[in-house]
Amino acid sequence: MNIGLFGGTFDPVHRGHVALARAAMEQYKLHRVYFVPASIPPHKQQQPLSPFLHRFAMLVLATAEEKAFVPSLLEAPQQDTGGKARTEKPNYTIDTVRRLKRDFKASDKLFLLIGMDAFADIAKWHQAESLFRECEFVVASRPGYSLADVANALPESLRPRAEVTRPFHKQPATGDLVLPGATIHFLGDLRQPASATAIRSAAASGKPLGRFVDAAVAEYIRKMGLYR
Ligand code: ATP
Repeated sequence: MNIGLFGGTFDPVHRGHVALARAAMEQYKLHRVYFVPASIPPHKQQQPLSPFLHRFAMLVLATAEEKAFVPSLLEAPQQDTGGKARTEKPNYTIDTVRRLKRDFKASDKLFLLIGMDAFADIAKWHQAESLFRECEFVVASRPGYSLADVANALPESLRPRAEVTRPFHKQPATGDLVLPGATIHFLGDLRQPASATAIRSAAASGKPLGRFVDAAVAEYIRKMGLYR
């Protein structure tokens, strides 16, 4: 089976996320896509975050209609036996990938789904090189990003030499980029400009959210008074 892993904060999950997962599923024949909300996202520890429970509940609602979309508890908060939260470390994607792959069959293949804005920082991720070894990447590109931007975002050990990437500057990030140690597939622009930041601020000022999020998610945000 081809399996997709899509991690994020999902605070809240929105139409951009669902469009990315759907495009990846169709283009790369994914049999299942796990949506994995991070309990403690390594790159967003300085900002306030909605409780995991709410972010997970919204994911359940947003993925309910699609059989292949699975809300995942792989990065759920850990509880010790006494019911107290342990001192937790950030959820590193490499750990999640390895946990997921423990149950893989030899013929299963893992694709990591990611937006271009997050991919731009990939070299800073924990054990980034290993991540490229463990799975192929599916990147939702954005207009204005060239193949050179993608290649230069790679961890240094995987980055092609400057003379190789020079012609990449004029090439939009489309198709596939296959390098020793890294395989990256590109989805075209999804034309879904939604961002969770914009949604939280729309919710705070009482604006309707139906354009950005699934109706059930909008209703959940309203009922629970999130982002007020
Ligand atoms: P925030 O605005 O709070 O930073 P976000 O909308 O970017 O949040 P995340 O949960 O941080 O949402 O993103 C999870 C993943 O989804 C990332 O890989 C990100 O690049 C991707 N993503 C987010 N918004 C879009 C979008 N509109 N189109 C395509 N990919 C997106």
